Amino acid sequence: MLAQTSLDPSIVTNLKQYKLLREGHFSYRSGRHSAALLDRDRLLADPQVASRMGYALAKAFFTSKIDTVAAPSIWGAGLAQWVAYFMEPRAKLVYATPMPDGARRIADNLHDLIVDQRILLIDNVMISGETIQRFDNEIHGLGGEVLGVGCLWAGAEKSLHAHDVFGLLNDLYPAYLPQDCPICKDGDDDPEVIAY
Ligand SMILES: [Zn+2]
Repeated sequence: MLAQTSLDPSIVTNLKQYKLLREGHFSYRSGRHSAALLDRDRLLADPQVASRMGYALAKAFFTSKIDTVAAPSIWGAGLAQWVAYFMEPRAKLVYATPMPDGARRIADNLHDLIVDQRILLIDNVMISGETIQRFDNEIHGLGGEVLGVGCLWAGAEKSLHAHDVFGLLNDLYPAYLPQDCPICKDGDDDPEVIAY
């Protein structure tokens, strides 16, 4: 169960200030529409903003007694480092290494941080959910117990296998099916098509 959290509005102010968050009308490859577009490449470039987002994500999982925070990508790892740091007690961090064939692998000498451990999966932005889903399978395969999935924003389904996906910015910027999109209903602005 996730703890109730409310997003600190100054995080959004920071994101806008550093031009990491743009408001408008966007259509993602997942088929969803949203009023927000995050700059995936620069999202974690500012450590101060990254640490505050990491704290907010950690707070959402404070009651889950997480042993290890695991990230499927280097982008997720930058955020996961902060999430692990702010867990009480502090959690360990594991991230996957991209392989030449496109798969991601967790190094053998990290497996003890997964076997029989309580795991939180963290990525920066989740669009189709495919990456984190494969990673979830791998963690399960290694004997880890996944307690939840957290990201800054999720543009796809709200659940993954049996896990709830917590998107820090999703309450403020929901990802709508096109037929439910209030921005489509509202006006005549076609959504800007986003490549991912
Ligand atoms: Zn729309």
